[in-house]
Amino acid sequence: MNKIEHIGIAVNNLEAAIETYTQLLGTPCYKTEAVESEGVKTAFFQVGESKIELLEASNENSPIAKFIAKKGEGIHHIAFDVTDINASMKELSEKGFQLLNEAPKNGADNKLVAFLHPKSSNGVLVELCQEKN
Ligand code: ZN
Repeated sequence: MNKIEHIGIAVNNLEAAIETYTQLLGTPCYKTEAVESEGVKTAFFQVGESKIELLEASNENSPIAKFIAKKGEGIHHIAFDVTDINASMKELSEKGFQLLNEAPKNGADNKLVAFLHPKSSNGVLVELCQEKN
């Protein structure tokens, strides 16, 4: 793992949360993006070498809608930057971590992503992400 790429935060209202985090971080959101395959609308803030990703559900079957229904708003996942996502997935799988994706998929912000089941990592949903060239 190279660094914490971003922390994903589940929110009810993306527009309102963008306002709040713009104030909190003292920096504007640099990108918003809908990821239809995941049923989410996202907004990104740069904080040093890492980012904050705000996530709003775009439909009721979205994993974010289910997360908020169960736990309320809050930290949803931690994403680690990796150099070679396929190699990282293979290595973690061999170490016994349960992957939620068999192959990397397209994520927001020009990334290939894959997730580890939270039960593999003390209740924390972990995302691996590799910058697409
Ligand atoms: Zn993420």
